[in-house]
Order: sequence, then C-alpha cells, then structure tokens
Amino acid sequence: MNKAPIAIAIHGGAGVLTPGLLPPQDEDAIHEALRHAIDAGHQVLEAGGSSLDAVESCVVALEECPWFNAGKGAVFTEDGTHEMDAAIMNGADRSAGAIAGAHYIRNPIRGARVVLEHSDHVMLAGEGADRFLLEQDQPQVANDWFDTELRRRQWQDNRSGHKAPSLEPSHANHHGGETGGSEKPGHKFGTVGAVALDSHGHVASATSTGGITNKRFSRVGDTPLIGAGTWADDRSAAISATGHGEYFIRAVVGHDIAARMRFAGRDLATACDEVVHQELKALGGQGGVIAVSPDGDTRLSFNTPGMYRAWRDDEGQLHTAIYAEDDRVHD
Ligand code: ASP
Repeated sequence: MNKAPIAIAIHGGAGVLTPGLLPPQDEDAIHEALRHAIDAGHQVLEAGGSSLDAVESCVVALEECPWFNAGKGAVFTEDGTHEMDAAIMNGADRSAGAIAGAHYIRNPIRGARVVLEHSDHVMLAGEGADRFLLEQDQPQVANDWFDTELRRRQWQDNRSGHKAPSLEPSHANHHGGETGGSEKPGHKFGTVGAVALDSHGHVASATSTGGITNKRFSRVGDTPLIGAGTWADDRSAAISATGHGEYFIRAVVGHDIAARMRFAGRDLATACDEVVHQELKALGGQGGVIAVSPDGDTRLSFNTPGMYRAWRDDEGQLHTAIYAEDDRVHD
C-alpha cells in the first residue's frame, strides 16, 4: 500500500536577494537555519503528527533564529520597539488564531495557537493580546530582548535614508504601483512561514513577522490577517505569504489563491503564479508565497529576486534556496 503523501515548505522572507549580496559564510548559515527549521516540522509529519503541529514547530525554529524578522531578530518600529504579528490556520476545520502588535511573547506563533485553542476569538491585538498571553502563561520577554544589532543598524539606515546593502531581504526601489505608494527605500521583508500536509490529509499554515522596518506603531500587515498572509483549507490549499503587506492585504492573496483552485479549477502552481505574478504585480506588490495542497503538490512562487525558502520534493528530497536560480540539495 502506498504511504499517504506528506508535504512541507517554509519561507524566511522575500526581497532583493541577488548572488554576491551575502558573504558565503552567511549564506551557509542561512541554508543551515532553513534546513534546521524545516526538519523540525518534517519530523512531526514523519511521526504521524498533525500539519498544525508541524507548521508551528517550523515557525518556532525560525523565530528563535536572529537571521529572520520574526521573534528574536524582529525589525524595529518607528518608535524603536518591536510589535509582532502571527497567525496559524488549520485546513481541516478552518479554525484559526492570530495576534497583532504583540510586545512580549517570546514565540508569537505559539501565541497565535493559544488564541486558536483557548479563546473564543480569531484575533487579539495590542495590549489585549499581551494580557491574554500573560494569563495563558505563555513565556514572556522584555521587548528589547528582540533587539539585534543588525536590525538596529537597518532601522537607523532606513531612518537616515542611507541605502547601504543589508543582509536582510529588502527592496531598495519600492515603487507603489497605481497608488503611488512609498518611494522610501529600505522597506524590509523577512517574515517567516510554513505550510504542511500531514498523513491524515490535512493542510495547515503559519506565518510570523516583526512587520516592516520603521513601521508606524500599531501598523498591522497581512501576516495575521486570515485570508491575506495566512490561509488553510483542505478543499484547496495552505498558503503563507511574505512581502509588502499593504499590497497582500488588498489582493487578499491567500484566499484568492484558494478561490482560484476551488471555483476556477486552477491547479496549485497556476493559482499561485497568477496571484503573485499578475494580481500582485498589477498593484505594485512585491513578495511571494509558499503553498501545499491536500494531494501533495507544493509551490513556491515569488516576484522578487529571491526568497529564503526550503521544501521537500516529491521524492522527499530536501532543498534550500535563497536566490531565484538557487537550489541546494541536502542528503
Ligand atoms: N508581510 C509582512 C508585513 O507586511 C512583511 C514581510 O513579509 O516580511 O508585515
């Protein structure tokens, strides 16, 4: 008898990532961090665990790694603090949990899971989220625990309008499409996310971010918005996005991909590519998505020069990549 398919993919943000931007030792460190994070989720799936647990495990690993803009290593807001957004969704019953603008929870994705499981709500924001997570005994840290020197430098560069190449996924020329948008350089993408299919046929998605460098306090991006940055439905797919959230919100990216599959009969790859390369691009939105469907298809689609990413192919082979043409195969 054939084993039920499992599938998993993760991202660590999309942006202007071109070969030569990162020193080789940093590239290696990022590939290794991606490998470690996807392994955390893959082990859950291999043991027969749920896709919900798998995506949470991947995202916790990425949040703990300061390379990525989520948890430790989150970007700075305009007033020099950190505000975290995260969401998790279960494709089996479309239950979902999200937090927005949280300040003290060490692993924001765990906070989103607690909202899913222990509240009557889908999303809690700001101080209310902080209070709820404290009541739920979720591990807390001081807000400056999320500080890293790299992010502080990027924040200061951003504020002074200095365009120094940064290690963080970024796009230097942010033109805002039809809206005119912001001409300011240095909007940073570095959100993390995971999608998975478990051996029971259920998909799930999780996404976590510090948002965009120098964001206005209380700004909320697409990441915690169910249907925009995070979506999972066993009737179509699980999707996690990264990119300039304002555009992803307006394009309702996750749900649009799923709707194309359900109502227009698109396969996963076509639906993802249409939304990322046509819908988003027409608005001026830059970024990408990762997605898995209940029949085991996996798609990673982005309209930026690169996206930190890892996936397992049909044969179960592990791949990690940073740039568009990149593909590091692991044993
Ligand atoms: N989508 C995130 C946001 O706008 C940023 C990112 O993907 O890095 O908050």
